[in-house]
Amino acid sequence: MGLIIGLVANRWPGNCAPYFYEKGQLTPSEITNINTAVSNLNATGLVRLIWRAAQTRYIQVVPDYQPLDGICWSSHTGMSAGRQEVKLDPNAGVGVIMHEFLHALGVSHEHKRPDRDDFVGVNYRVMNISRRADFDKAAAPAAVIVGPYDLDSIMHIRDVAASGAIGAIRDNRDWSSDWTTALPYARGPQACLLLYKRSSGLLRLHTLAANGTVGPMFEESALPPGTGAIGDDWTSIKHYRIGSSDYLFFLRKSTGEMMVHGVGYNGGLGQRIQFADWSSDWTSAEPFTTPNGTFLFLLKTSDGKVHVNRIEDDGSIGPIVDQRNFGAGWTSGAVIQRGANAALVLIKA
Ligand SMILES: [Zn+2]
Repeated sequence: MGLIIGLVANRWPGNCAPYFYEKGQLTPSEITNINTAVSNLNATGLVRLIWRAAQTRYIQVVPDYQPLDGICWSSHTGMSAGRQEVKLDPNAGVGVIMHEFLHALGVSHEHKRPDRDDFVGVNYRVMNISRRADFDKAAAPAAVIVGPYDLDSIMHIRDVAASGAIGAIRDNRDWSSDWTTALPYARGPQACLLLYKRSSGLLRLHTLAANGTVGPMFEESALPPGTGAIGDDWTSIKHYRIGSSDYLFFLRKSTGEMMVHGVGYNGGLGQRIQFADWSSDWTSAEPFTTPNGTFLFLLKTSDGKVHVNRIEDDGSIGPIVDQRNFGAGWTSGAVIQRGANAALVLIKA
């Protein structure tokens, strides 16, 4: 049935948690979905979510400041000492909202149960190195299993997670506001975290420890544009690996400018190997790998245009190998990597 937080201090008294949201921060359909998620959870009779009155410990549902990355999250697993957040991507579905509420209520991922090997296989080889810790098993006293293993649990992440969806929160801190990109990437075996503020162009690189927690910052670039620094307003930042080399791809939606940097030996930003001025307005950029090579999928929300470019052996973005027009309205495209194959997911929000 589940894997719940072991520490009694992080359990909500009486399995009852106050929650709250600012109506003005969310769209009517998001509010409808939140309300449905709450009534679904309350209908189980196992937990009770109540609208916050004056309680000091409560869950606030807030919109995610980096929209359309497909990632929703809960700031804590279980009850914290005060206000805690469930962050939702725009138009998050009822199931995703229930999932994040369950984290906040103290439920961990089903696939982290110590008995999971009897039911599922976890292929660490195909997953992004920075995600491996999300598949570590959890055991008492940190977590306690409840009931039989549930393959259909809403807390069970399958293939998508293996290719990079966010799992349980391993670490959380209160940094300054306004970070628009948080990208785990790798330099060889070292997992790193890139943080970027679109508004100011501030870029910070941290190591990620083997247990998934955020390690020390080893690079900061706070210089204004034109000084060799990254500059502001990059809307898509992606990592890919060609052979044994790692690269970071940057795309600026407003101007169509793109660039590729190598990742240096220490994980820091290496040499810029490509800079080009594409047409503006590309909304999504997703690298993916097939047995024939590595490619970049590009989607333009405004007119539904799709390009797939080959990524060359030197890490640069090469020629277009496929182009289509799917029609306007697709707000987001993502690529799910499953072993040697990749599948494309298009979302109309
Ligand atoms: Zn989760």
